[in-house]
Amino acid sequence: MNPDRRYGKNKGGSKAATHSVDAFLAMLYEGLCDVGELQAKTTMIGTWLRIARYPTFAKVYKTRWADVLKFRDKSLFTQCELCFQFKQQLACKSASMEVKLGTLCKYREHLESQYRDRVACWTLQEAAADPKNQVLVFQLDGCDQGKFRLPRDPALKATAALAKYNRPRLTLHGVWAFGRTLQLRVLDEPTRHDSSCIVEAIAHTLEEVFAEVERTQQPRPTSLVLMGDNTVRELKNQFCFLYGANLLARNKLRHISFLFMRKSHTHDRVDQLWGIISRRIANTDVLLNSQDTINTMLDELARPGLRNWVNCRASVTKLDVCHWQPQGVKLEGGLLEDSGANHSFTLLLRKGTGLNLK
Ligand SMILES: [Zn+2]
Repeated sequence: MNPDRRYGKNKGGSKAATHSVDAFLAMLYEGLCDVGELQAKTTMIGTWLRIARYPTFAKVYKTRWADVLKFRDKSLFTQCELCFQFKQQLACKSASMEVKLGTLCKYREHLESQYRDRVACWTLQEAAADPKNQVLVFQLDGCDQGKFRLPRDPALKATAALAKYNRPRLTLHGVWAFGRTLQLRVLDEPTRHDSSCIVEAIAHTLEEVFAEVERTQQPRPTSLVLMGDNTVRELKNQFCFLYGANLLARNKLRHISFLFMRKSHTHDRVDQLWGIISRRIANTDVLLNSQDTINTMLDELARPGLRNWVNCRASVTKLDVCHWQPQGVKLEGGLLEDSGANHSFTLLLRKGTGLNLK
């Protein structure tokens, strides 16, 4: 197996240097062939469909991979408040069977409704991939900043005097316009990660999409759906809603929706992307400035596997934002206390106002 540069030479010894997820999958396949646990089924069109059973996966993982590819412990993820309460009620020894069955029904309903949210989101993402539908779906999220400290160089760890300094962190924010473009924005430590930054990132992406639409003479999108998590500092606040209203007032679009999935059930495709990018960044040995970080991300995004999965043009650039004053972000009303619901805000340009999008 060829050494894989994604697992930098200083991380995890020689074994890590020669193992990657691709290699894992290749060896898993070999393992499947070895142990003869293939269930072969003939489909109507006569092709062979191979189904790997869980024990095979577990066997290959435990024998050769457990120390290389680690699964994060579930305690490392934040848990949904409602799910936690339901589980506690179900585990309560003094509760009667009736109460427990009632809780179980409510828990199932909660899980089902979060799944229905997802299905709606995935349907919209699929619809956005076809330009004929004239709908844009943007998913926005910031990446966990833990691994983005600069500069990074094994030589810098040599002296205790240098080690005591706090290194500045980069912030990464992504706007994924499904089927159109993936725009990753890198912010320096002094650039605040607030609603000005989010509005700027959305505006850049819209510009890019509309330029592409004009160039390729596709139908012009009339609807925009913005999906994000429930962070009031970023997308879910009055500044972003005002920006949306402004876009409609200037006849840029006909309809804008802000969709927020249920609290703590917001992980979606963009979070999967962050997992891949963070792993690559964490395993790169030398990163001296933001341009090095950008180049590393571009290199990762150019890998065929990831490129196919993203399935649209991807760009990584620095974002310099002029912050508006004041930035006292607040969302009024009971929305913040209402942890059980998902929120959706729709802004619509009414018919009959001489609609002429420009
Ligand atoms: Zn939950």
